[in-house]
Order: sequence, then C-alpha cells, then structure tokens
Amino acid sequence: MSAAPYAGRIAALAATLEQQLLVLEPTNVRYLSGLRSTNPALLVQPSGDATLFSDFRYADAGRRAAAAAGSSFTVVERSLLKDITGRISGRVGFEAGFVTYAAWQELCAGGAELVPTQGVVEQLRAVKDEAEIDVIRRACAITTQAYETIATEGLIGRTEREVAARIEALFHAYGADGAAFPSIVAAHENGARPHADTRDVAIGPGTLVTIDCGAKLEGYCADCTRTFSTGDLPADLQRAYAVCLAAQLAGLEAIRPGVSGDTAHQAAAAVIAEAGWGDAFGHGLGHGVGLDIHEAPTLRPASQDVLVAANVVSCEPGIYLDGLGGVRIEDLVVVREGGAEVLTGYTKELVTVH
Ligand code: ZN
Ligand code: ZN
Repeated sequence: MSAAPYAGRIAALAATLEQQLLVLEPTNVRYLSGLRSTNPALLVQPSGDATLFSDFRYADAGRRAAAAAGSSFTVVERSLLKDITGRISGRVGFEAGFVTYAAWQELCAGGAELVPTQGVVEQLRAVKDEAEIDVIRRACAITTQAYETIATEGLIGRTEREVAARIEALFHAYGADGAAFPSIVAAHENGARPHADTRDVAIGPGTLVTIDCGAKLEGYCADCTRTFSTGDLPADLQRAYAVCLAAQLAGLEAIRPGVSGDTAHQAAAAVIAEAGWGDAFGHGLGHGVGLDIHEAPTLRPASQDVLVAANVVSCEPGIYLDGLGGVRIEDLVVVREGGAEVLTGYTKELVTVH
C-alpha cells in the first residue's frame, strides 16, 4: 500500500467520537494503526491523540506502527487488560460486540466508566480507499486465475477435498498470502448445503459442483463462487443454474449507492421466487469484504444498511435443491456511483468440466 493511511484513519475515527474509544478487536487495531498483533489495544481520544499498546512480543512492530500512525506506543504486560485498566479513566467507549463479559469486568476494575459502542470502526472499514480496492482487485485476479486452472485440470474423479487443496496451492503459486477462508467444493447432493463441508468423496459426471473460494493478499480477502457442470445435468439443475444467474444479474443491477441491503437482496430473491424456488434461497444476498471475509455492510432481508460508494460487497444468490444439488454464483464488487464494478472476472456462463 502506498503512503501509510493510518494517521488519516485515526483522525477520521476521532472526528466521530464523543468520548475516548478503547479499540481491542485486533483487525480494527490493524486497520487503524497497521499493527498486526494478537494482543493489541488502541486508545483514541476525540482530539485525535492515540496510544497503541501491546506486549513485549510486539514492541518493535508496535513502535514502528505508532510512529507511522502519528501515535505513541506503550509496552504492556502480557495480560493486557489487567495492565490497561490502570491506564484508563473517565468515560471510555468499548466495542460491545467484541469485549466478553469477563474482559468487561477486568476493564471496570480500575474505576473507568465504560460506555458500550457498536460498529464504530467497522463503519469506517466498510468504505474502502482506492489503495485497499486495488489490493482486493489483485486478490480477485488471483482467484480468477485459480478458477481458470481448475477448469483446465478437470473435476471428475478428484475428491472435493483434493480440489480444495489444489485451489489453496494455486493461490500460493499465483502470489497470494493464502486462502481468505477454507475453500468450499460441493458436488452432487452436497451442493444443496450453502456452507457445505468439503468431503473425501470423488466428483462424478452429470452434476453441478459449487466452488466458493478467495485468495488473501496483504491481509485483504477475495470472495468468489462459481458452479461448474460435469456434463448432462438433470433438468432441474440445468434450470436452477439459469435462474440463479438471472437472480445474480438482478442483484448486481440493484447494487448502487443509496440502496438498502434489504432492497438489493429482494431484487435477486424475486427472480428466484418467480421461478417457484423462493424457499430454496435461504441466506442473504451478500456481505462486505475487506480485512475480514464477512464485514459491514450486510445485504439480506431486513438489513437497513445503506450502500455507499466504495463499499466492497459480494452478490451471491443460490438455489439449493435438497437431495439433488445446488448452485451459487458470487461476484465481489465495488459500489460505484454508476453501479457495481465487478472484481471477479471468471465467466458466469455454465462451464462444463470433465
Ligand atoms: Zn464466497
Ligand atoms: Zn461471500
């Protein structure tokens, strides 16, 4: 990434704060400071002053991160919360969705007045800068390359688990840090499970094979699903693919600034419902993607999240036919003023792979 963005991110956070905020969620700390630690804290004042904390193992990285982010760094004990509780006072915001009850009790022990907050840093993370989008674009390009190779190498006779392992090897070979999440490879009736466990079962002919995977690059995730045919499909699966693709295109069409997560979801769900499979699409249309594979905003029924430019979200309707198989088609897109910019370039035409 080009010029370190961290000072700007801390300033943007500070501008939203009514009181100091103690950030403990490691990905939030990484986003704000650049520090990759399993045991970090970042205390941000409404004035913009910030102190980064971690233990001895991260002292050197912490000092360098703090210098680049324009904040200070303090080495704390390995039992970070016990140490921090003596260093905070007054009203202190904390991440209510992350801090456990036990951690909250520890933090209270020093007498600070803890104020629960929700999604404050996550709101900022949901809007990407162009440098972040560029990294995600490259992670998606690696993912596309892996799909191209898998399609050439063939599917029939390989187990789901072998294909999943091959995808991860390809991600490494093509320059990624690794996989953003364990790849899903689901053939035959296993394809009817949206989050299928990948099995030691060989893929046979005449079915759909759903592959959901994404490379990870410089900490950022890609997320893409394609469904392949292994030839001569049952009529219902053939039709399910066409309906799912139409729904996915309707979802993409709906994704633009000002649209709620619910509205985008309904645009795709309506196509599936019209085909008579309303009950066969039981999950949300999509989710934000960034440093985490699932982050804000969410696109699903009743989601009041409103899309804004530079959100990066997935669009992934599926049709799951119990006992027969399933299809899901997923693109990762950037929300732009003019609509969705698709980052995942592998073809969505039904590709037959033997
Ligand atoms: Zn996915
Ligand atoms: Zn996804």
